[in-house]
Amino acid sequence: MNGLMMQQPLLISSLLIHAERHHGEQEIVSRRVEGDIHRYTFADLAARSRRMANALVSLGVKPSDRVGTLAWNGHRHMELYYAVSGSGAVLHTLNPRLHADQVVWIADHAEDQVLFFDLSFLPLVEAIAPRVKTIRHFVAMTDRAHMPAQSSIPALLCYEDLIADASDTFAWPEFDENTASSLCYTSGTTGNPKGVLYSHRSTLLHTFAAALPDALNCAASDVILPVVPMFHVNAWGLPYVACMVGAKLVYPGPALDGKSLHELFESEGVTLSAGVPTVWQGLLAHVESNDLKFSTMRRTIIGGSACPPAMMRTFQERHGVAVLHAWGMTELSPIGTVCSFKPAQRALSEHGRYAVQAKQGRAVFGIDMKIVGEDGHELPWDGQSSGDLYVRGPWVVGHYFRMADKSPLVVTGNKGWFPTGDVATIDPLGTMQITDRSKDVIKSGGEWIGSIDLENVAMAHPQVAMAACIAVAHPKWDERPLLVVVKKPDQTLTREELLAFYDGKIARWWTPDDVVFVDAIPLGATGKMLKNKLREQFKEHRLPTA
Ligand code: ADP
Repeated sequence: MNGLMMQQPLLISSLLIHAERHHGEQEIVSRRVEGDIHRYTFADLAARSRRMANALVSLGVKPSDRVGTLAWNGHRHMELYYAVSGSGAVLHTLNPRLHADQVVWIADHAEDQVLFFDLSFLPLVEAIAPRVKTIRHFVAMTDRAHMPAQSSIPALLCYEDLIADASDTFAWPEFDENTASSLCYTSGTTGNPKGVLYSHRSTLLHTFAAALPDALNCAASDVILPVVPMFHVNAWGLPYVACMVGAKLVYPGPALDGKSLHELFESEGVTLSAGVPTVWQGLLAHVESNDLKFSTMRRTIIGGSACPPAMMRTFQERHGVAVLHAWGMTELSPIGTVCSFKPAQRALSEHGRYAVQAKQGRAVFGIDMKIVGEDGHELPWDGQSSGDLYVRGPWVVGHYFRMADKSPLVVTGNKGWFPTGDVATIDPLGTMQITDRSKDVIKSGGEWIGSIDLENVAMAHPQVAMAACIAVAHPKWDERPLLVVVKKPDQTLTREELLAFYDGKIARWWTPDDVVFVDAIPLGATGKMLKNKLREQFKEHRLPTA
């Protein structure tokens, strides 16, 4: 017997319809590439998204066609989120920090038909335009007054002209909720990038879960500023969450330096933000050196790579901003776990609470997870056993886009589970901790050393700005840890002082065998440390213990 409830597909357009009808007055504020601060309401967003949906039809965009974007966080990008997916096409957010060759490869693989781009990326688009195979229209996301005087891009279109010429009457089509809605490629630090094709259903379910109190805890009273880019897994879902709950949105555009961000936090009354640890380093350095405060910010979501506890302490103790440590992946839309306290954890000593917060947290409903040993069997949740992390759920990738033979689900013994490539422990309360990515693991004398733990200790040293720990070959132990460190400006820290700092903080045999100081650690397109580059760079490094 079926239930007798209404059949309504879960569609992204329903988020926009809800936001317009129930939160029409709520604001969206954007710092634009043109330099100004733009503000309008959810009602305006909905009307302009309908106009853009009509414009897409006039450009010949059909259901399931891929529409690419190379854009910062801003209101026009958000209009495309809804116009493209809502009309049944697929929004493909390209990462503009990638090399032109990679952008060409990804746009060709996705068979993008139209490319929308912010003016900052004009040189990149001019470089790729003659090379991409399927893009028929290029649209500059600006108004007539700011269109480039000349450009090598043939028949370059203007975003605001398209909007002005289109009707704001558009009935969002109803279709199967399993229809593809958006596409995001992994950053591909190993091999070619892989496309993750989200559906309307997976996106809506992810949005419900993301908004929950023990997840990102979003409400109509929030003012959300996603620093995480809209090209990095849909800004972790926040452009959808804001419409669902009616929260005010603040978009920072291209200005991601500490000063510009802090100004927006204060002037717009931001309560919640989100980003990778490397972004917060710049912001915190600015706030600290100018003796500034966060007067409205209450929480910040930090994920994408491990948040060093030292950063958590600065946010929480000096600024009263609670840190929500979260773990996810492009393949998980992206949210997998969020670290909010259970009652027993909240009751712990300060030291104990920080130990919990250093973990990546509990699975939100919708995600199931397990850790698996080398023999393929599930390991106990004892907080000690560490193994390969597997997940499953309605917003976890089933197959990569147009790579049927590389289906992640074909895994002997663990069919139906996605191997994340991360190594983790899970404690008896279900709190998961990433100890490493499997390719970053340091294997010393047959035992694993968690590089993240070693980095967290180094980051707690007041003179350290950034630290990466990598494996270096060792004649006796196979591999031993090498610590690569960027010092804060004008600091005198020595190798010996830093190694002594490890005393009593970790098992003695985990202590790195050597420290090298560098000017900078290479970062990838989403702001993560590129340890594969470092391993290559220090391949020949001779450890003093060797
Ligand atoms: P990639 O960088 O591989 O393109 P993602 O941006 O999807 O893709 O990154 C996913 C990976 O980032 C995870 O598998 C994990 O290794 C790492 N990661 C994400 N969040 C955290 C976190 N809070 N702590 C440690 N590692 C994290």
